[in-house]
Amino acid sequence: MSILPAGGAAFEFTVPVLVVGAGAAGLTAALAAGEAGAEVLVLERDAVPRGSTALSAGLIPAPGTRWQRAAGEEDSPALFAADIMRKADGEPDPVLVGAATEGIAPTLEWLADSHGLDFSVITDFRYPGHSACRMHGLPSRSGEELVDRLRNAVEQAGIDILCDAQVTDLFADDGGCIRGVALRRPDGSMEQVGCDALVLACNGYGGNPDLVARHVPSLAGALYFGHPGNQGEALLWGEALGAGTRHLSGHQGHGSVAHPIGILITWATIMEGGIQVNAEGRRFSDESHGYSEQAASVLRQPGAIAWSVFDERIASIARQFEDFRQAEAAGAIISAPSIEALAEATGLPPAALRDTLERVEGCKAGQGKDRYGRAFEGVAPLQPPFRAVRVTGALFHTQGGLTTDGEARVLRPDGTALPNLFAAGGAACGVSGSRAEGYLSGNGLLTAVAMGRIAGAMAGGGPRHRNE
Ligand SMILES: Cc1cc2nc3c(=O)[nH]c(=O)nc-3n(C[C@H](O)[C@H](O)[C@H](O)COP(=O)(O)OP(=O)(O)OC[C@H]3O[C@@H](n4cnc5c(N)ncnc54)[C@H](O)[C@@H]3O)c2cc1C
Repeated sequence: MSILPAGGAAFEFTVPVLVVGAGAAGLTAALAAGEAGAEVLVLERDAVPRGSTALSAGLIPAPGTRWQRAAGEEDSPALFAADIMRKADGEPDPVLVGAATEGIAPTLEWLADSHGLDFSVITDFRYPGHSACRMHGLPSRSGEELVDRLRNAVEQAGIDILCDAQVTDLFADDGGCIRGVALRRPDGSMEQVGCDALVLACNGYGGNPDLVARHVPSLAGALYFGHPGNQGEALLWGEALGAGTRHLSGHQGHGSVAHPIGILITWATIMEGGIQVNAEGRRFSDESHGYSEQAASVLRQPGAIAWSVFDERIASIARQFEDFRQAEAAGAIISAPSIEALAEATGLPPAALRDTLERVEGCKAGQGKDRYGRAFEGVAPLQPPFRAVRVTGALFHTQGGLTTDGEARVLRPDGTALPNLFAAGGAACGVSGSRAEGYLSGNGLLTAVAMGRIAGAMAGGGPRHRNE
């Protein structure tokens, strides 16, 4: 993984735009670059494009879409930007936040109208920290469907995706202008491809334990739930080129991965009135603050385990997610007609579990906030049959990365842009600041899709597509 002198390259062919990585960011960038009139080639290390995008719930927050308007949901880029800034304590770059929040609704409508992705908005629950129901997803609410539909759109647009092509090195001249890349094929052979512009869309460093230990020590050694191919090349190449980096400790964790089966359990289980208890049957945090910071909280509990406790009403909401249905089919979601039966099925101490649930129901009945500061007003009480699932905390993806401007150009520490290098999605610094708490649900795909479109359009030499 290095930067090689451009003079030593022998490119087999050259394309105007190369995109490294075929997840949400790379595929959206490819569509935008193609639409701008450029010839594009996407390079993907895997045999089939998947990335963390396929592992995600595929939910993308967007303000002011036509789907929201049809549902009577009031929202605006300014409101969304304020939510992002509040969650991350004002740390993110406002220029990036502005570009992403203004760009995402037109981008989803473009993907629907020009490429047939049939988004809809989730209105039956609101994600923590969002002032409006603004999560959009495809019918299955799965990232697999998202990446498959994007790949299909790219293929329909006549854009080539070269799979089994792991980019190992970049060729650059003395001014930092990228002239091409070297890539390795599964049989170990190497190829070199030239380019006029390069889009880095190969996500962050969550799959690289050394980089995680260095930059996100609170989750060193934790379960990594993202795509293993995300090894941090964008960060390493950028650093070698003299690019700036920011918020490298920022990340998305998740405090609700079913254990040991390893299936993501939607946070709707908590936001709709569920709670988490540890092996002693005791709560340990304000779960409603956010699932990202809950990862480290769960990992601090005995055995690094917690139980999410909810009820059948909440389970029926969660069932819209493929992941939840799979967990249920696999027997990971316990059902019990009473608190005592729930304690028996989970192995939790019955007296402590009853005490915990009674305190929570007291708060819901108007006895104020709990001792962690969670407000339960207006939340329906949990009723039998109860549901519970054993979960652990995990690292989903990193949120720090290369510094970019509102046009997705990779910047040096002095604010000047590298001549022809763009980055989007997990390859670039996101809008979550430097801490897990800063991750607002959906920040990952927000920047992958919104900034991917901008990066592709810029690399393709076309318009910025931000406010049409
Ligand atoms: C379980 C889980 C659930 C999530 N749920 C959500 C959600 O609902 N909403 C949300 O907004 N975010 C969610 N996220 C985060 C979201 O998945 C990521 O932020 C987003 O997918 C990043 O997109 P990307 O295109 O940057 O990266 P990816 O989708 O990971 O794509 C990067 C691609 O680059 C390829 N690649 C890497 N290195 C190279 C190389 N050297 N050469 C060639 N190819 C390379 C990889 O194989 C991969 O295909 C979730 C993440 C996880 C793990």
